[in-house]
Amino acid sequence: MDRKLELRALRKSFGDVEAVKGIDLALNRGEFLSLLGPSGCGKSTTLSLIAGFLQPDAGEILVDGKVVNRVSPRKRRIGLVFQDYAVFSKLSVRANLSFGLEAQRVPRLERDRAVAEISEKLNLNPILAARGGELNMSEMQRVALARVLVTKPELLLLDEPMSNLDAALRAKLRGELKQIQKELEQTVLYVTHDQVEALSMSDRIAVMRDGEILQDDSTEAIYRRPAERFVAEFIGDPPINMVTCTVTAEGGVVSVSTALHRNLPLGQGEIAPGQYLLAVRPHHFQASREAAAGTVGSEIRLVENFGAEHVLHVSYGDDLVAVVVAPGFAREGERIHLALHAEQAHLFDLESGQVIALQRREAAA
Ligand code: ATP
Repeated sequence: MDRKLELRALRKSFGDVEAVKGIDLALNRGEFLSLLGPSGCGKSTTLSLIAGFLQPDAGEILVDGKVVNRVSPRKRRIGLVFQDYAVFSKLSVRANLSFGLEAQRVPRLERDRAVAEISEKLNLNPILAARGGELNMSEMQRVALARVLVTKPELLLLDEPMSNLDAALRAKLRGELKQIQKELEQTVLYVTHDQVEALSMSDRIAVMRDGEILQDDSTEAIYRRPAERFVAEFIGDPPINMVTCTVTAEGGVVSVSTALHRNLPLGQGEIAPGQYLLAVRPHHFQASREAAAGTVGSEIRLVENFGAEHVLHVSYGDDLVAVVVAPGFAREGERIHLALHAEQAHLFDLESGQVIALQRREAAA
């Protein structure tokens, strides 16, 4: 396997604060991995350790198979793009692109060839003569990326590069960035607290909390098979519903009962009967106007309009659950009937938040 980055038991503290608590991570050539977690979980510290701006207290960082702990940032062959794009406003786009290569003393002919190549790939030819200060945000981001990519880094680190942009532009740039990454087969480590960014662009996601990586998995597995309650709740919009449930297990068949639904078979497994948390994505409740087998009646408390879909907030015992429906399906105050697709729900331990592994039929998401 062509491994571009490996972190082994990496640690960093600031005084009493353990920002990074011995993490392991590996990134293969051409992969796009997002380090996803809430503010303060240690994402930027991890990135600074990889880039060489900070020294770890313990552990190893390998780039392209070589330990780089003692290698200076400039020599690590890592490209960086931060939230504030480092595009020189007085220089032309062309000069911005050559800047890094000049600093590396790359001969002129080679420099020109590299600039022409990256301009072509990132569609910058029409703006090569424009000054940095004249660019719009979308162009600015492409130039910031191109400035780094032109140096052909082994690894590209992106630290919340879109957080200053409005939602529409972010959506456009997500697609552009992913396309560029795929075309160049560039290995990317992307740091974000935005689960939509992580889900939409990554091959893999490592979810971080309090200096630890809770789950490092394919993007699909992170969404469909969360290993921890925290991961399940951090990923998905509208957020996953968490309802308390009682579990019984007879002859290896695990069933749950919630405030409304009774004896839903979940799968096969060994589990102590008792109280657990059942996590149900809003798409995995099914609402109908008429009662049917497996449905339970309840009242709609609130309807949120998201254009293409509506989210009903429906009474569920003492809680409300979110249920996705087509626009115009029902109104506030009306009663509807809810079925719960238990085979797609997840069971978590109340105390530890760990998932309870069950054998089950693989269901469509
Ligand atoms: P954000 O997205 O808000 O930057 P983050 O996930 O990147 O969050 P870090 O910036 O890596 O998190 O911070 C992790 C922890 O380490 C936090 O508790 C933070 O306060 C602390 N920390 C980070 N840098 C320093 C520093 N230079 N000195 C002291 N504490 C620090």
